[in-house]
Amino acid sequence: MVEMQKGHFPLEQFKEIKTPFYYYNTDVLKRTLDLVCKEAKVFDQYCVHYALKANTNPNVLTLIQSYGLGADCVSGGEIQAALNAGFNPKKIVFAGVGKADWEIELALQHDIFCFNVESKPELEVINELASKHNKIAQVCLRVNPNVGAHTHANITTGLQENKFGIGLTELKEVIDYALEAKSIHWIGLHFHIGSQIIDAGDFVALCNRINTIQAYLEAHRIQVGHINVGGGFGIDYANPNRQPIPDFKSYFETYDSRLKLRPHQTIHFELGRSIVGQCGSLISRVLYVKRGAKKQFVILDAGMTELIRPALYQAYHKIENISSDKEIESYDVVGPICESSDVFGKSIDLNKTNRGDFIAIRSAGAYGEVMASHYNCRELPQAYISNDFED
Ligand SMILES: *Cc1c(COP(=O)(O)O)cnc(C)c1O
Repeated sequence: MVEMQKGHFPLEQFKEIKTPFYYYNTDVLKRTLDLVCKEAKVFDQYCVHYALKANTNPNVLTLIQSYGLGADCVSGGEIQAALNAGFNPKKIVFAGVGKADWEIELALQHDIFCFNVESKPELEVINELASKHNKIAQVCLRVNPNVGAHTHANITTGLQENKFGIGLTELKEVIDYALEAKSIHWIGLHFHIGSQIIDAGDFVALCNRINTIQAYLEAHRIQVGHINVGGGFGIDYANPNRQPIPDFKSYFETYDSRLKLRPHQTIHFELGRSIVGQCGSLISRVLYVKRGAKKQFVILDAGMTELIRPALYQAYHKIENISSDKEIESYDVVGPICESSDVFGKSIDLNKTNRGDFIAIRSAGAYGEVMASHYNCRELPQAYISNDFED
């Protein structure tokens, strides 16, 4: 049986707007944030940072910021976006394997909470720049824990073969350097093993690895103040209507039960997709329905230029015809871009579709709008929030 329950959209108002565009449901986003804030309270000392790279729409950022979350940034531009949206610099963390000097200086100038440092050469440059500006840079070291994640190969980050983090064999040496460097204040460890992780066993494996690392460091009389476990919690792309809010209760409970935090320690999370993924949809109009000998194609006015995840990661997004309730037929749903990978889904069950129908591509709040491009000289998509349509 096909699940034909659909999302709720202000269709009449959509008819006035140029397509394609992103639509963010603030009710879903608020309910998600309510749950994050409630369930994170199992920890005594914690900070949840929103990973900006998932979505930097200003309305979305302002709402997230209003819940008091910190910000996880991976570029100078994201630091600026976080500051513009009102995030507290004392709750900004800055990760990335290739931080440019100007980005480091921007972060120093705003006294962000901490740099998540990915290599010794980077640590040396941060020390130099901090000294030049009479600053002390707070630093966590990003560890490559060599823990796999059961997710798409392009979005695993915690294996030895990945470019991220400091290897376990060099960790002690880099900590020793950090402890001696005059303009560095080393405060803890950072981890992030990948994205769209739905198997809690992956987080358990990370906790076990962190426990081992902590025991090893304590044996060398090294005390860790902050443990940042990164993000990566996945969402239910198949059932955005049945499960619009991820199960944060069990997510936080996994860490609470498996990670051996010391009484003085603060735990940090960096959640991107799980916060914004389900609130967003890409709304598009059908340009043509092309009936071939074997297949029929629905050709949308949205393509990989608006949402690249299917082309880049073979990602699945639920697709709904929100303006038809006719009988179900099977279609390949494609975009207009001159690339064979510009396909949103093959053999998709949709209510019988005609030119001009509205199609919602669901669960597009994370890594959607932020990855849009001008390829084929296309305009970037507009974005609306549900409040824009309230009378
Ligand atoms: C991308 C990223 C995140 C967020 O990942 P999600 O899967 O969206 O939760 C967190 N931390 C770091 C360092 C990242 O690069």
